[in-house]
Amino acid sequence: MKTNVKEIFGMNVFNDAVMKERLPKAAYKKMKATIDSGEDLDPGVADIVAHEMKEWAIEKGATHFTHWFQPLTGITAEKHDAFIDPQSDGTTLLRFSGKELIKGEPDASSFPSGGLRATFEARGYTAWDCTSPAFIKETPHSTILCIPTAFCSYKGEALDKKTPLLRSMQAVDVQAIRIVRLFGNTTAKHVTTSVGPEQEYFLVDKEKFLKRKDLIFTGRTLFGAMPPKGQEMDDHYFGSIPERILSFMEVFNQELWKLGISAKTQHNEVAPAQHEIAPIYDQNNIATDHNQLVMETAQRVADDMGLKCLLHEKPFAGINGSGKHNNWSMCTDEGENLLDPGKTPHENMQFLLFLAAVIRAVDEHADLLRLSASTPGNDHRLGANEAPPAIISIFLGEQLNDVVEQFEDAGEATSSLEGEEYVSGVHSLPHFKKDATDRNRTSPFAFTGNKFEFRMVGSTQSIADPNTILNTIVADVLCDMADKLEAADNFEMAVHDMIKETISAHKRVIFNGNGYSDEWVAEAEKRGLPNIKCMVDAVPALTTPKAVEIFEKHGVFTAAELESRAEVLYENYSKTINIEALTMIDMAKKQIIPACIKYQTSLAESVNSIKAANPAVDTSVQASLMAAISENLKAMYEALAELEEVTYTAESMEEGADQGHYYHDVVFAAMDALRAPADKLEMLVSKEAWPFPSYGDLIFEV
Ligand code: ADP
Ligand code: MG
Repeated sequence: MKTNVKEIFGMNVFNDAVMKERLPKAAYKKMKATIDSGEDLDPGVADIVAHEMKEWAIEKGATHFTHWFQPLTGITAEKHDAFIDPQSDGTTLLRFSGKELIKGEPDASSFPSGGLRATFEARGYTAWDCTSPAFIKETPHSTILCIPTAFCSYKGEALDKKTPLLRSMQAVDVQAIRIVRLFGNTTAKHVTTSVGPEQEYFLVDKEKFLKRKDLIFTGRTLFGAMPPKGQEMDDHYFGSIPERILSFMEVFNQELWKLGISAKTQHNEVAPAQHEIAPIYDQNNIATDHNQLVMETAQRVADDMGLKCLLHEKPFAGINGSGKHNNWSMCTDEGENLLDPGKTPHENMQFLLFLAAVIRAVDEHADLLRLSASTPGNDHRLGANEAPPAIISIFLGEQLNDVVEQFEDAGEATSSLEGEEYVSGVHSLPHFKKDATDRNRTSPFAFTGNKFEFRMVGSTQSIADPNTILNTIVADVLCDMADKLEAADNFEMAVHDMIKETISAHKRVIFNGNGYSDEWVAEAEKRGLPNIKCMVDAVPALTTPKAVEIFEKHGVFTAAELESRAEVLYENYSKTINIEALTMIDMAKKQIIPACIKYQTSLAESVNSIKAANPAVDTSVQASLMAAISENLKAMYEALAELEEVTYTAESMEEGADQGHYYHDVVFAAMDALRAPADKLEMLVSKEAWPFPSYGDLIFEV
């Protein structure tokens, strides 16, 4: 199959090129001013845009439009409306007005709101986010015009992930511009945050997937003995990609390109059956929309091709899970990356100040960042030596670390380390200068050349949450810095002192060593860095006085919105573990235990018929197998009763922190206790007797 990338790229997006071509000049100019500078959009222009958008969509075969939004479920939501406007003569016109483009009114009462909105106050609104272009979602049997929107309640409280993200981007814009101005830039109008999320996922065979209730209901396996081979040979990472997976990637890329998503890099990941895709970075809110579409598209394309895409953070125990590396930087509208150190970082005071600001923000609000990467699934990864530890620290690398240390020691930096010559010992290989800094795969927050890479984020997550928090904490520090610098008599001296003081005060968060080591856990504790081990322990960070203060100050969240989000997080945690527990109970009762009893019966029958044929034949193997199976069955039955009891107790508790902790401390432990004997049983009975595909079947036979 040959793909004409140029032809298909962006073909389903109502992008700048399409608007320029289709909109009258004056309307286009006004639209651009709204998109680029946030100027109010006049309703007349909205009507014109809506009309052209509709015409364009109909040409592409669209029958419906939808306001596409991102409620607190973490996935996207849409309600389709046909363009039809039936006439008295039995025909229909096709219509779409500016009003319909700008505002929608879905029933808000069926989305999580954390108590922000009682069911009787059902009204909610979606509002067009014109900074993220409308697009067409094409599936084999439907073609829908999707309009990215923000979702809020009747009273204006945010009920989605988009609104706070946009607010936080504004906060960075306002504060970062103040700093840029102080350094003499009078022309830049805006600073935006850019994000490039790398997405990990697993692909498994659909038929096998459908035989596993745990994958169907929870997205991860709840039982499963380790196969003889896991990832110990290190032979999957960057390995050559099998035909079936390559075909998937080909179609997946095409679908993304049609949506204007710049899918760029793909490779096998560490675990068998695990892969990664990374697009080229984009403006924060667009990158967020695109990442949602990447996840949706991966699942849809896989399903069409007889596969299933697992986005869960830990689909299989014992092998690596999946994350999402959130690459983040700040850029002016003139294209200057404020986190680019240049060749001589020690002379680049503006860069050093932005760097110091990020270091301070991460140190002061480590608890919030930790929370921003908390999901029930990510609890299995963080701190388990496959993903960053649960302790937040920053990796700077040799070059920047050296500059920072010079500042600390001498009050200024006079040199920057350079990359050394690459020496291979082979004349015919090219010579080049290496980067000044190596990489560190164990750091949760690593400086990587001209951006920070937040590596804790979970693979299922919307990246809106981590970025909303990152943007807000950085904006808050920049605000404080700008307040002081604007008031300083001698700007240069003040900047200098500020960089030095900030580094001295917050260097405890810098760590360039092995984040997976036990020594680091001890060292971090000595340094006073928080080590928040699980999601339920992380949630309170959202509503501390210091968090409420910064979120309110920068207009990102009100205290009530924060309270509601904390409630949604607890609820989400409890519900997730509850579904997992019920699924385990179901599989244990209806599949595993009956299958083992059946197998045992066949052993007993075998003993009987052998003995009947010849009493002298030794049947001790069958006897010892029967004994081992009995022992584990008994253990399983007891663990099952315990899990049923604690799950029942958990369900009857009031929603909130206590219930969340009970699920974590008690129900979760009971799930582990049920799994252990079941996994032993899997190794005792025959392959045919086991009621669903094994780990080996799932990850090595895709
Ligand atoms: P890595 O450093 O992880 O090997 P890449 O250079 O491929 O990776 O970048 C990983 C992701 O970071 C990509 O999505 C890339 O577009 C994104 N990225 C690169 N530069 C920036 C930047 N200035 N801001 C945000 N993301 C960026
Ligand atoms: Mg990376």
